Amino acid sequence: MSVTELRPSRGSNAPVEQIKLETAATTRLLEAEGILDYSGHVSTRIPGRDAFVIQIGSTSRAEVSPESMLVVDYDGKVLEGDGQPPSELPIHLEILRARPDVQSVLHSHMELAIAFTMMEGVTLVPMRARASRWKSGIPIDPDPSHIKLPEQGRALAKTLGPHHAVLMRAHGLCLVAESVQGLFVDAVHFKENATAQMQALQAGAKPIPLTDAEIAQIERMEMRDWHIKKLWNYYIRKANTENVLPQSWADQLVPTKEMLKRDKTMN
Ligand SMILES: [Zn+2]
Repeated sequence: MSVTELRPSRGSNAPVEQIKLETAATTRLLEAEGILDYSGHVSTRIPGRDAFVIQIGSTSRAEVSPESMLVVDYDGKVLEGDGQPPSELPIHLEILRARPDVQSVLHSHMELAIAFTMMEGVTLVPMRARASRWKSGIPIDPDPSHIKLPEQGRALAKTLGPHHAVLMRAHGLCLVAESVQGLFVDAVHFKENATAQMQALQAGAKPIPLTDAEIAQIERMEMRDWHIKKLWNYYIRKANTENVLPQSWADQLVPTKEMLKRDKTMN
């Protein structure tokens, strides 16, 4: 299945314009959900080009638009757009280089996730059903500083390895996914899962992570592509109603009724 077929947006834009729009919309949605704030960023590959989009570093995450997205190559050179990328660009460069299966990368300073890098004897684990996504593990990168050098980015990509998430000691996290919509949905579920584990800890209880058998059963019932479309539809429409996204973006982002039609409920 091609990347284009996975896209739940209806977008009739040229591919690069659609990627800019979807990445800008995702950034605003993540800010509205408290996953991004004054910092953090999202990058998405441009299919068929040796380049990706990322926002201008100084643009408010609540106001990012397709016009504030840059096209950057894998050497970090800005090919299109008027501005400078975020100072932590090496995070995106090195993860996208190391992981050809990944289309989109999120770097966030989510407080709740950072807490799991600062508690002795506590590891963030899959608790909620949707957290089966992180069954292979959530490693912690030991570098607590901002990632501004290529060698730091390479070390982070090495810690991430084949996983879908990496925590960064006292700093933040990165998530990776096969599409920018999938990345957004993962971020929502990552926060839900960290919240669930923190609530268990705060209740003074020992968290009970999902077992391998439970994860296998969850995956038998899972329809990731459809689930991504469903949540994307919900959050884009909600953001339009609440003026998080301009109304004029809706036509290119809201899935059509046809796209949301399901011919089965499990794989
Ligand atoms: Zn950072």
